[in-house]
Amino acid sequence: MKTAYINGFILDGTADMQPRRGTVLVENGRIAEILSPDALLPADCGIRDLQGGFLMPGLINMHVHLNSGGKPSAKKKEPEDYVRLVKLATSNPVTAHLVRTIIRGFAESQLRSGVTTIRTVGGILDYDGKVRDEMDAGYAKRAEQRKQGGSARSGRVNPLRAVRTGMTRIPLGTMAPSGLGAALSGGAASASAPGPRILTSNAGISVPGGHVAGSLAYPVTSPEEAVQYVQKIADSHPNLIKLMITGGIMDAEKEGEPGVLKMDPAIIRAACEEAHRLGLPVAAHVESTEGVVEALRGGVDTIEHGAMPTDEMMDLFQERKSCLITTISPVLPLALLDIHKTHVRPMDRYNAGIVLRGIIACARRALKEGVPVGLGTDAGCPFVTQYDMWRELAYFHNFCGVSNAYALHTATLGNAKIAGIDQETGSIEAGKSADFLVTAGNPLDDLRALRKPQMVVIRGEEVPEPGNRKDGEIERTLDELLKVSYEDLARLLGKESREDSKGGLAE
Ligand SMILES: [Zn+2]
Repeated sequence: MKTAYINGFILDGTADMQPRRGTVLVENGRIAEILSPDALLPADCGIRDLQGGFLMPGLINMHVHLNSGGKPSAKKKEPEDYVRLVKLATSNPVTAHLVRTIIRGFAESQLRSGVTTIRTVGGILDYDGKVRDEMDAGYAKRAEQRKQGGSARSGRVNPLRAVRTGMTRIPLGTMAPSGLGAALSGGAASASAPGPRILTSNAGISVPGGHVAGSLAYPVTSPEEAVQYVQKIADSHPNLIKLMITGGIMDAEKEGEPGVLKMDPAIIRAACEEAHRLGLPVAAHVESTEGVVEALRGGVDTIEHGAMPTDEMMDLFQERKSCLITTISPVLPLALLDIHKTHVRPMDRYNAGIVLRGIIACARRALKEGVPVGLGTDAGCPFVTQYDMWRELAYFHNFCGVSNAYALHTATLGNAKIAGIDQETGSIEAGKSADFLVTAGNPLDDLRALRKPQMVVIRGEEVPEPGNRKDGEIERTLDELLKVSYEDLARLLGKESREDSKGGLAE
């Protein structure tokens, strides 16, 4: 069964994409062909009229945690609180099942927001991987059912139907349902609701007292133990290994010292060597210059977050062919919002300013020097919901000096390349998985067009109800941050910062 998505403008995902009119033909979960707007359609295909909407590759969120929805808690939580929560969550089959249901729900939120691939980088035990496998099994089952349903009609030979779609408007009510839409509306064909493609590290590796140690990462004390834990995690079939190399903003013990290096360089090296031996790339949480340098020396493939760049750091990025994953979403609210809203210590707000300046300066310099930069939201952190990937694109545009097209490219084909899945997804090209979203407005004019997708398709399956019920309070708060420009930020952080001698946000 083929489905033709007609009357849309295609944004293909390349760096300087421009909207072009065309029809996307989908068959068996893949983009079969991209046709000119007036091409003939196969006689047996379903038709979906996009009514002048913009069709683009599904977004890829490179940095996700599926254990929380991003609602800030009313008071500051200590690391031990999280350890206790995770212990409780994993203590018996009933709570474990409940937690996996929550994880699955967050993954589905990502998908409904237009994110067709997520990369999770630190979760509870191997639950993310289990949800991934469950979802993959659901796809396989539904695809098989469609194939069987379709085979009854396959004896018919259909010449091209003499219909020119052009940009004519055909009322939706008269449309033939797409194969998938029909299957889903029937209900019986659907094993479960579709979810995004998931790449996961499962639980990460930290050190005692290190970032998320005991909750989302195993603490290790020696290179030998690091190797053992990489092997243990690898047994759960992850797609990558995650290391927590420095502390996070909230872990800091001193004002002016966020992201202190906590993992011994020998542990970093041993973990990277073992992961690579097993064919797994390594992503690392790093939020200080020293941390990034040690991570790159040790063999880490992607630096998550980043820090104030130095020549040595940039040379290492080039030499090791490592990439940077920029995450502005978790840090911007902490650095700019009033502490009565974020419930953090004044010191945390100050340190967040340092990390934010580092992340932005690192991204700007990486862009300038040709180091691949990807985007993720750090969903699950306070004020980072499971449906706000579009905000990260907007921040990237506002603070890192890229065009809207380049931000969209980064979140699609750029991220796909870094994740090693660009043969499968990331652009609107024949042969790739049919992963896309459709918006009413043009995101190249205004990225806020991504805020509410009209349609989301994953592996050829239309998501029944795109969009999410949002938290109004968080929405209003974050919308204020969209008004902040790069120049404003330098001024705002300069005022907060007592060590702005380096010129605030200057590289
Ligand atoms: Zn994270």
